[in-house]
Amino acid sequence: EERIMTETAATAISLRGVERRFGDVAAVDGVNLDITEGEFFSMLGPSGSGKTTVLRLIAGFDEPTAGTIELSGKPVQRLASYDRDVNTVFQDYALFPHLNVIENVEFGLRIRKVAKSRRRQLAREALDRMRLGAFERRRPSELSGGQRQRVALARAIVVDPKVLLLDEPLGALDKKLREQMQVELKDLQRNLGITFVFVTHDQEEALTLSDRIAVFSDGKIQQVDTPENLYRAPATEFVASFVGTSNLFDEEHSLRLLGMNGMYTIRPENLRVSSAGDEHAGRLTGTVRNRMFIGANHRTIIDVDDIEVSVLEPADSPNRSLGEQVSLDFNESDVRRLRADEQSAA
Ligand code: ATP
Repeated sequence: EERIMTETAATAISLRGVERRFGDVAAVDGVNLDITEGEFFSMLGPSGSGKTTVLRLIAGFDEPTAGTIELSGKPVQRLASYDRDVNTVFQDYALFPHLNVIENVEFGLRIRKVAKSRRRQLAREALDRMRLGAFERRRPSELSGGQRQRVALARAIVVDPKVLLLDEPLGALDKKLREQMQVELKDLQRNLGITFVFVTHDQEEALTLSDRIAVFSDGKIQQVDTPENLYRAPATEFVASFVGTSNLFDEEHSLRLLGMNGMYTIRPENLRVSSAGDEHAGRLTGTVRNRMFIGANHRTIIDVDDIEVSVLEPADSPNRSLGEQVSLDFNESDVRRLRADEQSAA
């Protein structure tokens, strides 16, 4: 029994019934969450959904108004932020402008009273890991945005935390650099083998990077799952519409168009279009309203009754003219039933 227990990955962070109220606003509303050691875990949701507040509660910059938080199985209520084995990287980097790169990276070690020669050595290792060895004498103002972000990462990892909290760390970077840094972050997390908790509002970024994702809306978690499962089997209406593109059928449309009770979703790539008169005519009929070439695919918008259905077709699919009558078909197994969204009590 002992052996079985040690083989299961340990829980790095555990939240039970965590709530954070600001007056009447429940910024975080009854959150339960278990993040596993060594995991790249993302908190995904729109602005104001409570992600940053959860991160601040884990870091110890703020306290929950109810519920408990444990790090490595120990309650942290009474632990100040600097006594928690976590470190944070912010979107605005928060580098000290009057210190050069290596002094910035050494800062946390100085606070922890690490001897000077050891400090230098550890800081150099962290800078080399972030490919910043040549920049140690520069001030932050003499670096590009991407380089500053790498300094912030070096400064965060140099103290060897068990958990790294990252609050929209790539938010200030342009698209190209952002994609490059995503690869670096993923590599860094794999090489360090520590737990990353990553906050983003960008669903593509979360899907690309994460082992698992918690989807937030209104201070509540809608679903926690792997990227594949979130995409393939969204649990609620919110998740279906926030992660990827979905066709949502509310109860009335599900019954009328699909003959099914409840609320359902079908992904655009799981719909097949054929000409209306075709002998393989599908279960739905509609009118082509729009067709867009998006590289590898065409996105075709079809009016089915009073709702708009989005279909992803291969680039070499037959041309469809606007106003054309078409039929749509799908496999039963690609139709997903949705739960009602988790609603905030406040
Ligand atoms: P963003 O992506 O914009 O940072 P978020 O998902 O991280 O959004 P939070 O910053 O956690 O969201 O905010 C959640 C809610 O709590 C919002 O309604 C916000 O206005 C409120 N809130 C956060 N901090 C405070 C505060 N110090 N005082 C009052 N309300 C706050």
